[in-house]
Amino acid sequence: MAYLKPLGALAGTAVGLVLSMSVLPALAGEVNIYSYRKEHLIRPQLEAFSKATGISYNIVTGSADALAQRMRREGINSPADVLLTVDAGRLVRAKTVGILQPVRSAALESAIPARYRDPEGYWFGLGLRARLLFYAVDRIDPSSLSTYEALTDAKWKGSILVRSSSNIYNQSLLASLIHHHGGAKAEAWARGIVANLARKPQGGDRDQLRGVAAGVGDIAIANHYYYARLKASKKPRDREVIEMVKPFWPNQAGRGAHVNVSGAGVAKHSKNKANAVKLLEFLASDAGQRLYADYAYEYPVKRGVEASPVVKSLGTFKPDVIDLEILGRKNAEAVRTFDRAGWR
Ligand code: FE
Repeated sequence: MAYLKPLGALAGTAVGLVLSMSVLPALAGEVNIYSYRKEHLIRPQLEAFSKATGISYNIVTGSADALAQRMRREGINSPADVLLTVDAGRLVRAKTVGILQPVRSAALESAIPARYRDPEGYWFGLGLRARLLFYAVDRIDPSSLSTYEALTDAKWKGSILVRSSSNIYNQSLLASLIHHHGGAKAEAWARGIVANLARKPQGGDRDQLRGVAAGVGDIAIANHYYYARLKASKKPRDREVIEMVKPFWPNQAGRGAHVNVSGAGVAKHSKNKANAVKLLEFLASDAGQRLYADYAYEYPVKRGVEASPVVKSLGTFKPDVIDLEILGRKNAEAVRTFDRAGWR
């Protein structure tokens, strides 16, 4: 069995990055991955990739922002071949700061609808996530809910749970509102949400769901897969949340619910570009998409691949079909808008 050399440049570094290696021989070479997703969560995909191609992998995990900063710092010496990250806002930023390179691939272009990838091939969406509403079944009549916009109605004063505006998911949601309604209306929306908050923004999306179950607030804004994970869980404290909290798909009579992607791009200074492209193509293949659905609880980007049963149980919905690249372009304006609106 070939011996895989650890990535020397990465060993013992700051920000708590974890290094691990596959155990397959490096017959077809290797690919080095910087991943926001924890190693144990993405291992099924990567093991399947290695098995299918003979390409071994090394993975470094860390927060999405730390990984991008690290690639910038490493520059031409970066061992990264692939950046796996989350949210179109971040993918566009990675392109803008020059840590990715363009890729042309017929397999990727046919598997992934154009609105879920960069027009120049710098990044590709691989899994879809919806940002929707969740309500307390014992306090909220779902017929009183309709749109993201309607959450600013004064009747919801003290009701809304949502995380901080420093979070990219909220920035992308607001970027979509800026696109659809213009800056002034989007700012009024952000102010309206702040006026209706049940508490100061804190915690992650899962904490907002738990907050609804605990009676802290009545309506949460959160990504679908947090709810799906709780729904798949057997822990009693997760079961309780699922019994108390139900999903509501907003804007179904109009443009549809906000969706975003987790995705990937090939690193600007990749030394294994062919293998990097093969990894992206595998992740966008039927087999790779099946794994996104079953392990990450994301909606496959590729048509014809079905969501996992637990995700399907959240119901079908109409998605907003905005080009996700727009979310990245409007990110800076969204951040400024949140600041002005006092959404901390
Ligand atoms: Fe998330």
